[in-house]
Amino acid sequence: MGIVRDTKSSRKIPSGMLYILFSFTPWVVYWVICGMGSKMGVVIPLAISLLLVIPQIHKKDFNSMELFSFLYFSTATTATFIFNLNIFVEKSGFLGYLTLFLMALFSLIIKKPFTFQVSKRDYPEIYWKEKSFLVINNIITGVWAVIFIANATIFLLNETSAIILSNTLIAFGITFSIVFPLKAPAYFATKEFRKYDWRVNLTQKPKGEYDVIIVGSGIAGLTCGALLSKRGYKVLVLEQHHKVGGYCSSFERKDFVFNTGVENVSGLWEKGPVTYLLKELGFEEGRTFRKE
Ligand SMILES: Cc1cc2nc3c(=O)[nH]c(=O)nc-3n(C[C@H](O)[C@H](O)[C@H](O)COP(=O)(O)OP(=O)(O)OC[C@H]3O[C@@H](n4cnc5c(N)ncnc54)[C@H](O)[C@@H]3O)c2cc1C
Repeated sequence: MGIVRDTKSSRKIPSGMLYILFSFTPWVVYWVICGMGSKMGVVIPLAISLLLVIPQIHKKDFNSMELFSFLYFSTATTATFIFNLNIFVEKSGFLGYLTLFLMALFSLIIKKPFTFQVSKRDYPEIYWKEKSFLVINNIITGVWAVIFIANATIFLLNETSAIILSNTLIAFGITFSIVFPLKAPAYFATKEFRKYDWRVNLTQKPKGEYDVIIVGSGIAGLTCGALLSKRGYKVLVLEQHHKVGGYCSSFERKDFVFNTGVENVSGLWEKGPVTYLLKELGFEEGRTFRKE
């Protein structure tokens, strides 16, 4: 049996979260330097955002975040140095967060949520067209949009604790962006199942010896049985054949071994579904498949 690995995804891909923090760099620099009252606070971020946008010009594939950053800092530099306006320095908190809100909103309107563009770095291409992948990213981008507009309002109202409040919201956004994608796929995947009551009443022991009986020991029956027994159910798997495995098995004829069906196993990349399943069942990496 062979193992199909998604070569693209099993490569070490730069983390999307790290990249998103990286793409925030011009903004952090902007707020820090403008906070000190220096006009250089608009020029240095322009240089950084230019560096970030150049690779995208080459690829002709733009991220809303980098594009908006570059446009904003170009406008801010022109206004500050050519038209002698100080508003981009004085109101850096309000204008910056308002722009980030508009960026997030724009990315939602064009159906390319800005976190989706970044998440593509973390997940293999096979996931990108998954409805839940887009839904999850719409939610995360939506949360960021709310955070950005909240922070813009905080700075507009000139709250004394604006920096603490805005950074608290940003910290919440980062935590949410890390935790939500880990929890949400399982929630969406099991949504259909939750319509039914699958509980086995373990307190009132049924008359039989088993909580669950599975007919057929193909890969589906065996996986289901293993997951259920891991959760404490007593499982009986019934098989009509003399051997388990169904199509995921083999037989011998005259010293030759033939597959009954399966010869390739996919979904074994870092965040692949089979990898999740094997981890859930406690299989150690590298000790799951035996070459024969
Ligand atoms: C030729 C071929 C090649 C394939 N290649 C691949 C591949 O390379 N990669 C891949 O991922 N997928 C492959 N597949 C698909 C894969 O084999 C199946 O999707 C998978 O094995 C199905 O598993 P299952 O447990 O649902 O069913 P099965 O493997 O069909 O298992 C059903 C089991 O139930 C038993 N059973 C049925 N009725 C009863 C009964 N009344 N009482 C007791 N036992 C019963 C059967 O004997 C059998 O053991 C291939 C399929 C075929 C046919």
